This record gives sequence, C-alpha cells and structure tokens, in this order.
Amino acid sequence: MVEKSKQTFYVTTPIYYVNDVPHIGHAYTTIIADALARYHRLKGFEVFFLTGTDEHGQKIEKTAAEKGLTPKELADRVVGRFKELWKQLNISCDYFIRTTEQFHEAGVQKIFQKLLEKGDIYKGTYQGWYCVSEENFLSEDVPLEPEGYKICPDCGRKAILIEEESYFFRLSAYQQPLLEFYQQNPQFVRPQTRMNEVVSFVKQGLKDLSITRTTVKWGIPVPGDPKHTIYVWFDALHNYLTGIGYDWNPELFQRFWPADVHLIGKDILRFHAIFWPAFLMAAGFPLPRTVYGHGWWLKDETKMSKSKGNVLDPYLILKKVGADPLRYFLLREIPIGQDGNFSHEGFVQRLNSDLANDLGNLVQRTLTMVFNYFQGTLNEIGEEKEEDRKFASQFEETRKRVVEFYDDYALNRALEEIWTYLNVINKYLADNEPWKLAKAPESRPRLARVLYQAVCAIKATSYLLYPVMPETAGKIWELLGLKQAPQEMPLTDLKFYDFRTEKPIPKPEALFPRIDLNEFIGEMEKQNAPDKLEPKAEVKKMEYITYDEFKKMDLRVAKVLTAERVAGTNKLLKLQIDLGTEQRQIIAGVAESYAPEELVGKEFIVIANLQPAVIRGIESQGMLLAAEAEGKPIIPFFDRELPPGTKVK
Ligand SMILES: [Zn+2]
Repeated sequence: MVEKSKQTFYVTTPIYYVNDVPHIGHAYTTIIADALARYHRLKGFEVFFLTGTDEHGQKIEKTAAEKGLTPKELADRVVGRFKELWKQLNISCDYFIRTTEQFHEAGVQKIFQKLLEKGDIYKGTYQGWYCVSEENFLSEDVPLEPEGYKICPDCGRKAILIEEESYFFRLSAYQQPLLEFYQQNPQFVRPQTRMNEVVSFVKQGLKDLSITRTTVKWGIPVPGDPKHTIYVWFDALHNYLTGIGYDWNPELFQRFWPADVHLIGKDILRFHAIFWPAFLMAAGFPLPRTVYGHGWWLKDETKMSKSKGNVLDPYLILKKVGADPLRYFLLREIPIGQDGNFSHEGFVQRLNSDLANDLGNLVQRTLTMVFNYFQGTLNEIGEEKEEDRKFASQFEETRKRVVEFYDDYALNRALEEIWTYLNVINKYLADNEPWKLAKAPESRPRLARVLYQAVCAIKATSYLLYPVMPETAGKIWELLGLKQAPQEMPLTDLKFYDFRTEKPIPKPEALFPRIDLNEFIGEMEKQNAPDKLEPKAEVKKMEYITYDEFKKMDLRVAKVLTAERVAGTNKLLKLQIDLGTEQRQIIAGVAESYAPEELVGKEFIVIANLQPAVIRGIESQGMLLAAEAEGKPIIPFFDRELPPGTKVK
C-alpha cells in the first residue's frame, strides 16, 4: 500500500441514482460519511468528502423521453432533491460530483482507452438475459422459467434475451491478484463477514465483464467507437477518481488518492470490492484502503418499500425534529455493518431519553444554576477535591476510548461512551447536590467548584459529540458563552480543565423538546401515504390561450393503415395513418394500452401541423390525442366512421 505524504482523509459515498427519490438509506450512508469527515477535520487531517449523483443510463433516458425532456434536462431538474436534503442534514461534502460533468466523462474515456491499449479491454459478443428496469444482465445462475424466459430476481420483471457486440473487461485475469490483495489487506472489506462473502465469490472464478452497451444511448461513448456506450457501472465507479482531480488536477489527485473509505450499501458490495479494485489494478492505481458495506434500515422489522407504504421520508422527520436527532439516532442505534430497525416508538423513546433527558436536561440544569447562583460568571472557585480529580480523569479515559472508536469507524460505540460519561456527570451533580450547597453562604467556593467541574465536563463532552451532532455541539458552546466553535479547536487541544468565562452564561434555552409519541406517529402516518412520497408536482396556474392560438392547431381525423411496435420499448407504436390528402407516419406512446393489430382501421384525432420530431431514430409527423388515466393512455374514438382528414374544431 502506498503511504500518503500528508495526513489526509478521503471518504466517499456512492453516487446516487439521480432519478431516485432520496430516502432514509441515502441519508444514512451520507451521514456516516459526514461524521467521519468532521471527525478527521478535528484531528487536523486534510479531508476530502465526495458525494454526488449517477446521471447516465437507460432509466433516465426512458423517464426523460416520457416527460418530453432530454436526459440532461431531467437530471438538472431532479439533482436538487439530493442537494437540498444534504443541506438540511448538514452534510459537509467538499464536492458534489455529477457524472454528466465534462471532466468526469473525459476521465472515464481516458481510462477506457488506456485499458483498451493494454489489452485489459477487448471487443467480443455478449448474449444474456437483461433486466431493462435495472440495466443489468441477470446472473447466469438465474433459472429459466417454464415459458422460456427469465425473471429478474431483484425486481420480478420479465427479462429480455439480447445479444450484442460489447467491449469486455478482462476480469478473469484478476482473480489471483485480487485474492492475494484480500489476503494482504484483511481490512479492505468491512465488516469481516462481508470480506468472507467477497473472497468466496472470487474463489469460484471470475468471468470477463461486459462493460459497454449499444442498446443504451445516454452515457459516455466509447472513444473511437461511439455506437457503444460505456456501461453505467464502469462509468460511475470512476467518479471516485475524477471527483478528486484525475486527469484535471494532478496535485489534488496525488494528495487524496487512494481513498481511505468507500461507504456503500451492502447491495453494491461486489461492484466495489471486486470490479473496482480490478479496474484500478489494471489501470495501475493504488487501491483504496477500505470498502465499508453498511446494512439496511428496516421499518417495523420489514424492508421498506414503496408498495408497502412504509418508506421513511427523511424530509418529514427533519421537519419535525431537525437534523441532529436524526443523525444521532441512525448512528447510535446500530453498528455500521448491521441492519437496523426504525420504529417510531424506538425513535421517539431514544430522542426523549438520550437527547431530551440525559443531554438536554443536564445542560439546562447546570447552566441555569450558573446563571441563578453566579449571574453567569463562576468565581471564587474552591479547591479541587479527590472526587473532582476522579471525575476529570474519568473523562480522560472516555476521551481515549471515544477516539479509538471514531478511528475504527465504530460510531455507535463512540456515542455509547459519550452517553456513559454524560451519566457520570449527572451522577456527579446528584452526589454533590449543588442546590443544597447554594443554601449556605460558606459553601459558595464548593458550589462554584462543583458547577465549574460540570461546565468543564459539558464543554469537553459536547466537543466529542461534534462529528455526529455538529449543530448541537455548537449550540452548547454558544450557551457556555464561548467565542470559539468546536470545529475551530483541534482534537489535540481537548482537555478537561479548559473552561474560562469568556462572557457571562445567559439563562439557557432548552436544547431538545420532548416529543409526544402519539402526536409524532399521527404526523408521520398522516403524511406517509404512498402517494405523498412521489416528488411533488409543481402547481401550475391555469394559463389561457386565445381563440386565435387554438385556431392555429390543425386537428384532423386520421385512420390507421398499419401499426407495429418500436423495438426496444414497450411504450411506443409506429403507425402509418391516412389523413385524406396524404399518408403520414407517427410514433405514438400507446403500446401499453393497445396492441398494434387492435388499432388498424381505427380513427382518432391527430395534430397534423405539429413540428415533426425524431423519436428513437424514427420520424414522427404529428401526434395523436389521448387521455392519461392511471399512467396509461386512452384514445378517444368516434361513434361513427368519418372520412379521413375531416377537420376537428
Ligand atoms: Zn430487475
């Protein structure tokens, strides 16, 4: 492994499919990455935190066509859904990459060319069952159905058999090198169980990987052979290189590559733990240190799915509780590798007990006493006693463990340690009973000492909390009257006795309101109906057109002469129509409702003077009118036969 010259830390999330609606899973991966990035910044590392969107591929192409947009226009419209969520979650990424960016496309082509010249990429023919929905050839071991086709095991849709000329990556040549690499770098895949899965998969033998498609147009063309489009996975994985300057900022790239940790969901482990290091070996790059595959969030013990209506919308939760409680819950509840269960009861209970009680009450109670007994300025602090020394040294032990856990990406363990110490602070106050000391004037130095100890403990402990709850840590430091923000102090400066009154502590406000469970469930469920999860359509104002504008439309009765399906889509039909004075060809998106033979001889209305358009390479001279009901087109037909070409007005 190549050692970096400086203390740098490079962390990535997968690039999310731009067409997806952001959900709790996306939020989870990105929050982990953010906490690790913030922690390493405290440590004084130079950090690069990369996230972004995957914007190529057939699904985008299809959705865009349905909406009458170019794929890039569609991507531009929906990329904001991710950017806005990251803003609301306080995600401190250093760059948000989009695979449609020119430097990314150029970088991928350059690597492709390099591997082609080297012989690690070659041209061949691929035949396989292909899931159009997931843009994925099915694995060969998926059995054939009795009807003679295969069903995609991931989405349950019918796959199609396709054969095409394709470029292949010589993955088979990397079986041995990969196995040796895993052996020498047992931390490459975490957690350990996932490493075992990867090793046994690779031991079964690796086949060469088809990495281009001729059926997909929306993507990066193969250099010098543009009818081939580079497969989305080969394209997407290389964002980890192009995002930090590969091919456009060599100094930045040198500084940060290889990545310290790629955070991913366990479903994309093979791509990251097998294909990705093989691509990198072939291109001669050092390999990343760790690929960390995290688990799923289940809702009430079942996998979230749109059809069940149990998908958690992070926006709803954020609106109700804000970013830090959600960040805390997701990171505290489970170790990164395991599946977690999200129940509203569990969520509210944890917020109330850990945040409102243990942390919020402690801060509020302590600072209220400083305000009430000392007008916000601690003075005449009495001597340190044995129990005070013990209290301070317990923090030093806590700090040591928290740092070890953060270094090991064991965020839940770090938080457990912090909460253990919050309870130590609570116990220290209960044992020393400052409210009683306040009653006797001669106890004033001791009272000041006890509150001083508690304030030191709160300042230091909230600092350790900063990577996970940046807003809360900052708020606490503000309440303490400190001019510095936690992130401005390096971790090496953290010590227990480090509080000086910079400005008098004001009367504190509550950090976390208690949440009423029933009210919370009511609000979540009211808004969590499945239809609410779709991106909200913009409300359009009615726009009137004039009669003259309407008159410009030439609407005519057309009769269908022939009809056939357009290859490669289940939505479109190619129709030859009779318009009375002429024959025309139109492409109509009605194949989901009508078989071609059903339409022959039928009459309907077309806009005859619509500017011709090319759809999937075929010219369409006009458009038919249809209603849309539940996503399916319904054509209005006439109740008697009319001469083709009859004007409709
Ligand atoms: Zn599928």
